[in-house]
Amino acid sequence: MSKVLIIGCGGVASVAIQKCCRNDAVFTEICIASRTVSKCDALKAKIEQEGKSKTIITTAQLDADDKDAVLALIRAYQPVAVLNLALPYQDLTIMQACLEAGVHYIDTANYEPENIDEPIWRANYEKRCKELGFTAYFDYSYQWAFHEQFEKAGLTALLGSGFDPGVTSVFTAYARKHYFDEIHYIDILDCNGGDHGYPFATNFNPEINLREVSANGSYWENGHWVETEPMEIKRVYNFPEVGEKDMYLLHHEEIESLAKNIPNVKRIRFFMTFGQSYLTHMKCLENVGMLSTTPIEFQGTEIVPIQFLKALLPDPASLGPRTVGKTNIGCIFTGIKDGKEKNIYIYNVCDHQECYRELGSQAISYTTGVPAMIGAALVANGTWRNAGARTIEEFDPDPFMEMLNEYGLPWVVDENPQIVP
Ligand code: NDP
Repeated sequence: MSKVLIIGCGGVASVAIQKCCRNDAVFTEICIASRTVSKCDALKAKIEQEGKSKTIITTAQLDADDKDAVLALIRAYQPVAVLNLALPYQDLTIMQACLEAGVHYIDTANYEPENIDEPIWRANYEKRCKELGFTAYFDYSYQWAFHEQFEKAGLTALLGSGFDPGVTSVFTAYARKHYFDEIHYIDILDCNGGDHGYPFATNFNPEINLREVSANGSYWENGHWVETEPMEIKRVYNFPEVGEKDMYLLHHEEIESLAKNIPNVKRIRFFMTFGQSYLTHMKCLENVGMLSTTPIEFQGTEIVPIQFLKALLPDPASLGPRTVGKTNIGCIFTGIKDGKEKNIYIYNVCDHQECYRELGSQAISYTTGVPAMIGAALVANGTWRNAGARTIEEFDPDPFMEMLNEYGLPWVVDENPQIVP
């Protein structure tokens, strides 16, 4: 019996909210609050029309950049937890409001600022690049800085409950608990074998997606970061149920938390598949300045190039009906059990068209929205309570793994996988 406030009503939230309503024993009441309230109202109407859920849904207009507005809504609605499915830009205001109001917090992506030229942030960023050796715009330091305050308040902030980060870290905790005495190597492989038929589109928020993909790559090895040029390291992998794909090494946020939380790990890498057409379009857009977040003046109006590009690109939420094929996301672990080296691969395969038939969404939103609901359910019903600001591998993986099977993301353990060189 829980009341949960969900912030954001985009592609990921639409899946998470529909799944919350299927888990109405836990989510007895939800409030969907977002910048554009008409999207919240439309989703509420869709769910109520289907008539399959007992969850009581309310909606609210909210600018989550305004901490006081978030705090006022939490105080008025009185949820047990807030599930943040807006953008990473809003993480800190929502966490601060949760802390002040005394409620638990869950999200799917770590903080990054909207304007990377903001002087105070920029100075911290440059210091961190030098000290830690990776140049991604996002890192956990801003959210980990809340750890002690959440701990003192007896509140759980569950960070990164999507697929990657999220399920990939739960797979790691599960492998550690059931298959290894020590994990030494982790390769996280994210393959989208889906085809939407457009020359160029992104599967989730274009701004967040393009920033991530155009950045330098990096991996963790022997206690420090090794940084690469964007797309410098390429491998080919034969993905179960998808086939052979090119994949490229990227920096990714779970590497940072797994390096901290998995003892004796020697190397952690993250690879994502991309087709040549996607990479060529992205390079061209980058070269002409369309990926910039620095505002420019255009015919008397200030515009941010990447936000203008977002307005031109297909809305990720609209890709559902056109996308065919499957995703395969998982982790290959190498380590020691009872003195012997072993490898295992834990992965999930998700079919774009099946997701669309079930919830009207493509698999990228689906694979993120389902774990967001699961993380929120486990915190809301008290199964996962561990005061502090913690990433998901710090919790017992078993109840989460069971719910993945139950709510549409079944997983496979392959004890004889192809290894990535
Ligand atoms: P969308 O752009 O589809 O949705 C974002 C939603 O947040 C929109 O409803 C938007 O409102 C709302 N929003 C934006 N700014 C504000 C604000 N200031 N106040 C209130 N609401 C706001 O993004 P996605 O659904 O694709 O992604 C959601 C989150 O999931 C992102 O943080 C993304 O990084 C993360 N993600 C995580 C993954 C993982 O595996 N861990 C994978 C994919 C995504 P409006 O409708 O007005 O634009």
